[in-house]
This record gives sequence, C-alpha cells and structure tokens, in this order.
Amino acid sequence: LATHFLDRIEKSELNAFLHVDRALTLAQAAEADARIAAGTATPLTGVPIAHKDIFVTQGWRSTAGSKMLANYVSPFDATVVQKFNAAGMVTLGKLNCDEFAMGSANENSAFGPVKNPWDHAAVPGGSSGGSAAAVAARLAPGVTGTDTGGSIRQPAAFCGITGIKPTYGRVSRFGMIAFASSLDQGGPMAQTAEDCALLLNAMAGFDERDSTSLTPEQGGVEEDFGRDLNQPLAGLRIGVPKEYFGEGLAADVEAAVRAALAKYVELGATLVDISLPNTALSIPAYYMIAPAEASSNLSRFDGVRFGHRADGYKDLQDMYKKTRAEGFGPEVQRRIMVGTYVLCHGYYDAYYLKAQRIRRLIAQDFEAVLSGPNAVCDVIMGPVAPTVAWDLGSKSDPVANYLADIYTLSTSLAGLPGMSIPCGFGQGDKNGKRPVGLQIIGNYFAEAKLLNVAHQFQ
Ligand code: GLN
Repeated sequence: LATHFLDRIEKSELNAFLHVDRALTLAQAAEADARIAAGTATPLTGVPIAHKDIFVTQGWRSTAGSKMLANYVSPFDATVVQKFNAAGMVTLGKLNCDEFAMGSANENSAFGPVKNPWDHAAVPGGSSGGSAAAVAARLAPGVTGTDTGGSIRQPAAFCGITGIKPTYGRVSRFGMIAFASSLDQGGPMAQTAEDCALLLNAMAGFDERDSTSLTPEQGGVEEDFGRDLNQPLAGLRIGVPKEYFGEGLAADVEAAVRAALAKYVELGATLVDISLPNTALSIPAYYMIAPAEASSNLSRFDGVRFGHRADGYKDLQDMYKKTRAEGFGPEVQRRIMVGTYVLCHGYYDAYYLKAQRIRRLIAQDFEAVLSGPNAVCDVIMGPVAPTVAWDLGSKSDPVANYLADIYTLSTSLAGLPGMSIPCGFGQGDKNGKRPVGLQIIGNYFAEAKLLNVAHQFQ
C-alpha cells in the first residue's frame, strides 16, 4: 500500500508534497506488517497518512512552508503525529501549505504553489492546499490539516474532499507550528466523513503539553466520533443563515448548495431560516486577532533559536533584521506588521480589544440559535466559500483573499466545529470541473453529529 502511494506521489506534478523519504516510509510500513502479523494492529495500522508541514516530525523536515525553516528538523514529534505513529499509521511525507498557514490559496508557500488536481489552472485553496490536493489526487488516503480561519474546510471544498475542523481544544496543538494560538485547530481530511471519523478518533484527546487542550471535565473526553454515522436524519433541523446567501455568493455555488439542502429535506430534515447578524464583522475581527497572535508567535524566529540566519550582519539588531527580512515572505511580514500595530500601546483598545469584543458577539450569534432550550436548529449549513477555486495567480491582492474567507472565519472565532463535504461542481468556470463544498457547522462537541449528517449525504 505504501509503495502504491509513493509511486503515485513520485509521478505527481501537483507540488503537493514537500518532503518524501521512501526508506523512512517503507521502514514504518514493515513495522506495521510485523504488527499485523503479531495480531496487535489497530484499525489504522498500515494505513498511509501524510502531514501538513505545520506538524513537526522527527526525521522529516518541518518547514511550515517557510524559507525560515527550510532545513529545520524537529527533535520531537507533534502529539498528533505521535498518536498516528502509535496507531501504526505509515507516514508518506510532508505536505505543502501556505507559509505559517497564512493564506487561502497555497500561493504563499515559499516552495511554490500547489495545483488543483481537478483543474491544474486553479488553486487548491489554502492554507492546507497540499493536504487537500493529495487526497483529491489519491496520493494519500488521509491527511492532517490545520484550520485557523478555514484552512481545512476551504481547501477541502476547492478540491472536492471531506474535512473537519473540530471544536477548539479537541486536538492537541503541541508540535503544531503556531500561527494564531487561540484559533489554531488540527483536524483530518479524507475522501469521506467515515474516514475522517476514524482519523479523528486517533487524533483527538486531552494533552497536558497543550495548555488549551480540553480536559475530560471540560468535555474533552475520548469518544468514538463515528458512533452515529448511520443514524437517520428524520427530524434534523438545519439552520440556513441568510448572511451566507447574500451579495457576493456566486450563482453556481449557491445552486449546488441549495441542491444539497433539498437533498437533506428528502432525507427527512427541515430547513429553518436563521440570522447570524455579525457575520460581516468576522473579517475585520479575524484579520486583527490572527495577525496580533502571529506577531507574537513568530517573534521566536530570530536567527538564534531556529532555522535560518542571515550572513554578513553588523551587530545583533542587524542580524535579526536581515534574518527576518530574508526568512519571511511578504504575507507573513504584512501580518507581523499589522499584528504589532494593533497591539501597540495606544491602539490596543481601539483595535485589538474591540476585535475581541466582536469575537464574543459572533460566538453569541451561534449560541442564540444552537444552544439551550431556545435552540432553533441542530446544525447550520451554507457554502464554504463564495466561489469555486480561482485561477492560479489571479488574486494577488491580499484583501481579495481575506474577503473570500467570509463564511469560515466566524466558526473559528467562536471555536465551533465545522466541516466541508463535496456537493457538486461549479458551472461558472471554464469546464465545470471545479468542486463546490457544503459547510456544516455544529455546536461545541458536536463532531459526531456533523459526521453523521455528512455521512448520510455521502
Ligand atoms: N485564510 C485564512 C488566513 O489567511 C485562514 C488560514 C488558516 O485557517 N490557517 O489567515
């Protein structure tokens, strides 16, 4: 199985993989074989997996898509990687992504863009673009991704695969190179909800090495996320937010999403009109909070402790300056500047604090419809992105990229679980070959419900 995928990866021209090492993979595969022979296998033993290059891995380079970490090899494995290794999974390699997971198209990678397997002229989405492309092109049966503001859901949508961002705190962030710590959340991406459930079972759980990991008392209990896959959907109430179907939503995406909603009605669900009034504010709030946290997290890349160090500097200040100017790409530099600015004394209240207040309001929008005795729906559905994948190189304006995150940012700001499943193809592009994703959002800890709802559609 490992050889089959390695051969496909070798022939692929998508640039989805950044590092492969046949010997390392085959050694792990041999261990899996031995374990199967010894009768100590888990359901995942011998199953190949590949990791977004944001997860650190012993023995493989971990670059976060950045020149800053081009030759960095971690002395330890991320918790998620450790858990998959312990289950006997076989690592195929590391996957391309936007630099430090900042982006929506995988075009911010220092190691070049990734092609969308459905249409090589299109972006695969981002920041987990290599992850989504690898699954769609059948270079790996399952992969890891991370989602800070949509980076699992949006590339899954653009590449026609399934991905789930769990409730914030479900999956350990230990060894996940930090972008915006209060938002970052790892999750699985695969062909189906059933596969995602199997992977999430192995990934999730409390980790004392991550201070925001959910303890069992906080709800971070070990559970079988696939337990409800086969539950019928009769009586399911689906909230349809009017803000997700307004101006800016492409007609072809809307048509595919509405057709999916109609299929859910056939499966026994009812549609409920809801409002998430603060949706539009998610963009300015997220694009202050995320850069603020990034500016702090990225201060560790100083040329002393990790990775790249510039040559020919005059003194310490000059070394920092040259190292960071050379090591970070333009989008990362932009975010460090924005983040530093909104955290400045004198601007903090006007920008950062206000953004945090908006974040609270956004969470309350969801609570009002999903929580407590007055809840009007069990899940929320809508598009993942306003359009299908755009052409490579066509969206160079950063703000245009930010605006395309409108339907995914709120879920992240609220810390809720969300997923993307394929629901058809766009008609607006050249050959009608670009996939559309349906987004399913649930209350905190509702992953099993989301996977059930997704599986019944698939
Ligand atoms: N597109 C968003 C950004 O650029 C989200 C990225 C992510 O979820 N990692 O920040």
